[in-house]
Amino acid sequence: KASFADSKVLVVGTDVSFMPFEFSQNGKTQGFDIDLWTKVASDLGLQFKWQPMDFSGIIPALQTKNIDLAISGITITPARAQVIDFSEPYYASGLTAVVAENDKAITSPAGLAGKKIGVKTGTATVDWVKTNVKDAQMVSFPNIDDALLALQAGRVDAVIHDTPNVIYYANTAGKGLVRVLTPPMESGEYYGMAFPQGSPLIPQINAELSKLSANGFYKATYIKWFGIAP
Ligand code: GLN
Repeated sequence: KASFADSKVLVVGTDVSFMPFEFSQNGKTQGFDIDLWTKVASDLGLQFKWQPMDFSGIIPALQTKNIDLAISGITITPARAQVIDFSEPYYASGLTAVVAENDKAITSPAGLAGKKIGVKTGTATVDWVKTNVKDAQMVSFPNIDDALLALQAGRVDAVIHDTPNVIYYANTAGKGLVRVLTPPMESGEYYGMAFPQGSPLIPQINAELSKLSANGFYKATYIKWFGIAP
């Protein structure tokens, strides 16, 4: 049977500001998602090009089929699953808060009630904070880097974003600038590759993800980016 791959170059949406999943360093786009998708596409013989975009544009672009799929640390949520389709989960995540390194007042997640909290527009964190942080005053940024700068400038009291991103930032660019609050605010979120509803790509991509788990590629790539085994 004719495969999707024969007919076109797939357009793959991603928001290249989510270290260590997709980010730019020394002019190169890299990260866990980038490695994972590149391997999937190469094994399946799929041609593709990256379409960088703001995170908040990804789900609408899938709904209108302006992109063929997206990989961008996208949390599988029931609301999203009403309007787009997901692959099987490929990464277990959660949410974590950071404060400025010199902040002596907020020492645990409980201290965030009533505070000004920076979040990234269109992410699952927005709804989560509404439901779970009492009297939070949310400030939205299109890009988490801007939220983290606002934190260092004292314009927000805390930033809440995906745990692996926050930890990676705190250990690299944000070292000595931000402090991670423990424990994480939330765990048990999962990332999936995202597709327009009914995309014919999904079954073959799920099969390929199982194969990459079985043959060690997934584990090696995970260790490369997170420094620990999954
Ligand atoms: N996991 C977050 C969400 O799906 C987004 C993470 C990101 O900024 N790419 O809402």
